[in-house]
Amino acid sequence: MLNPAEVEDVEKALQFAQEKGVPWLVLGLGSNVLVKDGGFPGLVIRLGKGLDKFEMKGATAIVGAGMPTPLLARRTADAGFAGVERFIGIPGTVGGGVYMNAGAHGAEFAEVVTEVTVMDPKGKLKQLTRKQIPFKYRASGLGQVIVLEAKLGLGEEAPAKLKEVQGRLFRWRKAGTPFDQPCCGSVFKNPGGPKTAGMLIEEAGLKGFRIGGAHVSILHANYIVNTGNATAADVLKVIDHVRKTVAKKLRVELELEVKVIGV
Ligand SMILES: Cc1cc2nc3c(=O)[nH]c(=O)nc-3n(C[C@H](O)[C@H](O)[C@H](O)COP(=O)(O)OP(=O)(O)OC[C@H]3O[C@@H](n4cnc5c(N)ncnc54)[C@H](O)[C@@H]3O)c2cc1C
Repeated sequence: MLNPAEVEDVEKALQFAQEKGVPWLVLGLGSNVLVKDGGFPGLVIRLGKGLDKFEMKGATAIVGAGMPTPLLARRTADAGFAGVERFIGIPGTVGGGVYMNAGAHGAEFAEVVTEVTVMDPKGKLKQLTRKQIPFKYRASGLGQVIVLEAKLGLGEEAPAKLKEVQGRLFRWRKAGTPFDQPCCGSVFKNPGGPKTAGMLIEEAGLKGFRIGGAHVSILHANYIVNTGNATAADVLKVIDHVRKTVAKKLRVELELEVKVIGV
């Protein structure tokens, strides 16, 4: 695994991977991935410190991909800017958030992104405007690129008001999601109807369903938690069972949100 300290390191890593014919994968905080039990046979490029710049230019936030999204939410709120305050409980990086079009409480990255800097597999830097990114629900359509930096268009708001919103949302999240248990984030995308994936899984009677150490969370049915000794294979079996049961009982085909990687 490589933790690049600067953009040049990412370019060198991609060159190395290309020369050696090694597959590569970029990760942020790994909060929406399930790595299979055989691991990932290649180079993992993990963006974090070093690529986590944060700068406000007027109402535009210029943010490195490695910055944790909750920190972005806090720092912009402190500075009196609204637009990402509702992301306070999304436990990933800004790069992962842009790539996944992460969102919460009715807000998503697609609404605030104005420009993204990416590196293609050949190490070439590109600047993409919002219009060039085919965002949809929980997807950016960016393809095989590395998000390095994003510009976010925000609006002015009183810090006290933003912090009040964040306090409320954070308490709600702590009470309603398995924040302190290992898990791979929301497993399924919400299917778009009146009911969320979590509601459907609960309605199908699957809260608490378990295989090995992998449990459908009692707190929120769209999370599968590891209670100590779950393998990725256990989690995948639970996913398969949930998907088939919801399709059979409720006639809804659930689509995966979590990215399954490795062998
Ligand atoms: C308890 C919990 C609560 C969550 N709540 C929410 C929520 O409310 N809303 C929501 O949308 N998500 C939620 N998630 C999921 C997750 O936090 C988000 O999808 C987050 O944005 C992923 O960021 P990450 O840096 O961890 O990405 P990772 O999990 O590391 O990667 C996810 C995907 O993005 C790609 N990727 C990561 N970084 C980059 C980059 N710099 N360039 C290109 N591709 C990249 C990876 O290759 C992978 O395909 C939750 C997860 C947990 C565990």
